[in-house]
Amino acid sequence: MQLSRYTHGCGKKMSKVLVTGGTGFIGHHLAKRLKDEGHFVRVVDYAPPPPFRDLSIADETDFTCDLRAMENAIRAVHGMDIVYALAADMGGMGFISYNDWEIIINNIAINRNTAIAVHNSDVKKLFFSSSACAYPEYLQMDNDTTPYLVEEDAWTGKPDTAYGIEKLMGEEIYHWLGEHASLDVKIARFHNIYGPGSKWKGGREKAPAALCRKVAIAKLTGNRKVEIWGDGQQVRSFCYIDDCLDMIDTLMRSDYNLPVNIGSSKEVTIDGLVNMIALAAGVYVMKVHIAGPEGVRKRNADLSKISKLRGHNRETGLQDGILELYEWVENQLKAELKDGERYEMP
Ligand code: NAD
Repeated sequence: MQLSRYTHGCGKKMSKVLVTGGTGFIGHHLAKRLKDEGHFVRVVDYAPPPPFRDLSIADETDFTCDLRAMENAIRAVHGMDIVYALAADMGGMGFISYNDWEIIINNIAINRNTAIAVHNSDVKKLFFSSSACAYPEYLQMDNDTTPYLVEEDAWTGKPDTAYGIEKLMGEEIYHWLGEHASLDVKIARFHNIYGPGSKWKGGREKAPAALCRKVAIAKLTGNRKVEIWGDGQQVRSFCYIDDCLDMIDTLMRSDYNLPVNIGSSKEVTIDGLVNMIALAAGVYVMKVHIAGPEGVRKRNADLSKISKLRGHNRETGLQDGILELYEWVENQLKAELKDGERYEMP
């Protein structure tokens, strides 16, 4: 991957950068990328990284930093130039469908405290990770109504989950932080980011890693049945982690301050995704459709704005990215079976 050197608009070659939620999937990849680019990187989270995420590269870490407490947020941002605000209580559909109260209360506290702490600091720039879940539910009820979600669609109706509502609230908190404190605020709406190092079991994992685990179990046990929530015709798009990091980089170097979709616009059904995973695994699987949380019927991203900023719309092919993820998940599973140890996800 081509690494770029940039100043984040702070007028310095090297910046002091904070990644909140930095032991998480995107956060740990981002921290590594920023470190490779020569920045001083501080990582905070309220949970230590699982064994498969190496954060020894960070200059400073605090894995007991619960951002629901104001004093922790103040400590976290102290002395930093740039903040990447990724911390969030979140997960895949299996988690966000049943934990509305925890999600809305915890995440509003995280974002409120982060915003106030940044407001009272010398931070020059902030990145906030919003979500595709911020878009209205009614635009996503069938496979025909909305080919792509455009950024302006977000405020025309009610999102399908408290997670989406809380993300809209977070966007507003950071927007007004930018206005009030003359801060350069960037807001990205991530659409299903996937890749090695993501949660792959434990209840908070998202569809690509969860389905890779199910296919890997089918392959390793010989029981070829793979359970899929719903009829498998739900439509989504999935964005490989490296492409996500490239788009964050582009956004941070731009002068664009409105919310921007970061994702892929290549749609696939969940059954289609399972076929790709089975191909990556080199096995035949038997799909069994069962009742379970499905989320909206169809969701895809319009990427016109971020593509214009990038000057292109190149992305990792889904089959290539799925191969990377599948091999990583299968190795995690094999290592567990070999060690006889099980790591429980927080
Ligand atoms: P993740 O769950 O792997 O990372 C989130 C991190 O936040 C976790 O490490 C968690 O421990 C930490 N956290 C939670 N509560 C905290 C608290 N009170 N104090 C400190 N840390 C806390 O998720 P991810 O996939 O890396 O997502 C990163 C960001 O991007 C999140 O804001 C998420 O909502 C957003 N997002 C991700 C996706 C995706 O596809 N992965 C899609 C849309 C939005």
